[in-house]
Amino acid sequence: MSAFVADPRLAGRKVKRIAFTEEQIAARVRALGQEVAAAYPDGNLLVLGLLKGSFIFVSDLVRQVPRPLQVDFLVVSSYGNEMVSSGHVRLVYDPQASLQGLHILLVEDIVDSGRTLSLVIEVLQERQPASIEVCALLDKHHATHLTHAPRFVGFDAPNEFLVGYGLDHAENFRHLPYIASLE
Ligand code: 5GP
Ligand code: MG
Repeated sequence: MSAFVADPRLAGRKVKRIAFTEEQIAARVRALGQEVAAAYPDGNLLVLGLLKGSFIFVSDLVRQVPRPLQVDFLVVSSYGNEMVSSGHVRLVYDPQASLQGLHILLVEDIVDSGRTLSLVIEVLQERQPASIEVCALLDKHHATHLTHAPRFVGFDAPNEFLVGYGLDHAENFRHLPYIASLE
């Protein structure tokens, strides 16, 4: 869809293009839920969402996964938009004390360089989970820093700055039910 969209959620900003509609997202998330369930025939599954960008995706995804699971979130320390690049990232909010023996599905809104995910995985791995896999709503395929390619991907992302369905620009637009690029 390329028409300019007039949406009262946008506070006067214009959407350049809707990259993925609400219906496309819902269909893809349903399919992803089946993929995730099939990938974990047994074991304890902990879905770990990276806040804040993944909050809508996680809430839709887990309702489409027909198996037992638990949900938690991670908050990663950052300064402005820059991740701490000491090679060690700080978890501002720490999930349940023991991850030992759990299958962890790390859920990210969008993978760009992959730096965020790589650092988080490094920290989580120290806590001896049974496995760590990544589910990304969007993948820009620039991920030169990524040690763990996402096992589950919602959509290949166009090379544009995207907002909506959890993704923000300066904390705005997370509540758009579609994914769009801004003018
Ligand atoms: P990475 O560490 O993979 O370079 O960056 C991933 C993070 O950058 C995402 O979690 C997201 O916060 C931000 N990001 C990357 N591309 C976009 C984009 O197109 N739109 C928005 N809103 N955030 C993005
Ligand atoms: Mg993010």
